Amino acid sequence: MATDSFGRRIDYLRISVTDRCNLRCVYCMPPAGVAWKEPDEILTFEEIERFAAAAVKEGISKIRLTGGEPLVRKGIVDHIRRLRELTGIEAIALTTNATLLPKMAADLAAAGLTRVNISLDTLDPAVYSEVTRGGKLTDALAGLDAAFDAGFDPVKLNVVVVRQLEQDLLGFARMTFDRPVHVRFIEYMPVGGESEDGTGCTGESGGWTVEDTVPTDEILQRLIVEGAAAGLGTLEGVSANGAPGGWGPARYYRFPGAAGTIGVISPLSHHFCAECNRLRLTADGRLRTCLFCDDELDATTVLREGSDEDVRALIRHALAIKPESHDMRIGTLRRMSQIGG
Ligand code: SAM
Repeated sequence: MATDSFGRRIDYLRISVTDRCNLRCVYCMPPAGVAWKEPDEILTFEEIERFAAAAVKEGISKIRLTGGEPLVRKGIVDHIRRLRELTGIEAIALTTNATLLPKMAADLAAAGLTRVNISLDTLDPAVYSEVTRGGKLTDALAGLDAAFDAGFDPVKLNVVVVRQLEQDLLGFARMTFDRPVHVRFIEYMPVGGESEDGTGCTGESGGWTVEDTVPTDEILQRLIVEGAAAGLGTLEGVSANGAPGGWGPARYYRFPGAAGTIGVISPLSHHFCAECNRLRLTADGRLRTCLFCDDELDATTVLREGSDEDVRALIRHALAIKPESHDMRIGTLRRMSQIGG
């Protein structure tokens, strides 16, 4: 078991396998797009697997693949199969926009993927197309169906709540009655956005700013009031036993009789650094100790020039310097698509 210098158990590694994506969400990528990394700047699957094997020896037992869009990287199914075979790995999870799941879900399940988080911020086709800059809501919903057909468990739906989008939160809540989907409302995080002088970050992305973050207390209040008015009953807290197995900081609720749950994740309003259990590896091989901390460690050079013991030492160093908390500052130097969320 690995602990950091504040005694937190760190057993979860998020790996971004690509900076590329088949969507262009306004808050994740700048309008002009990002300059893709050159292929040799991106870690090979072999390098990622070597890193993962070292991480397992340092106490990591849970891996989530993210991106960019992880499913656009060729060879991802076999990569998942090889990661799954690492002794000490409890489960592999995937965060995806789901648009490629209809053709890939069955193979992913056969390769050993069990847990899927689907990002879907709106149920309005026109707004979906606007936010994703051209995506089709029907593709994402077909991906959600495919996730259930493939037997993934849990299937979670991540909804970033943004004030200016005026999302139909109750529409998402109603989905929990149809099948055991776990809808999680997440506070929009003001990341990215280079300042004009290039020395800092504004936290502005896609025209959204920190003013667009809706605190989860407000989200819950809306669900309670709108749910009761719509006859869905009283939203109840769910004990740890009733919540979908999770690796993160969501708090869960349920409307009576619903098959799925409603979760809230509050990175800003109730920040949960004391429970942080994770490290992040970016597609270009940078090890990040905190989502909001731009001090990254160069894993690529260690993987390309060092021994397995050097890789393990780098991970131990990351654990030693992982900050106690993020300083709530606005903006990170990299966009979410480059960090992996
Ligand atoms: N393409 C995949 C997807 O759509 O899930 C994985 C990568 S995406 C960067 C991972 C997650 O980050 C998505 O759920 C997305 O909504 C979230 N995300 C991106 N920018 C965000 C922001 N500023 N605040 C909160 N979540 C954000």
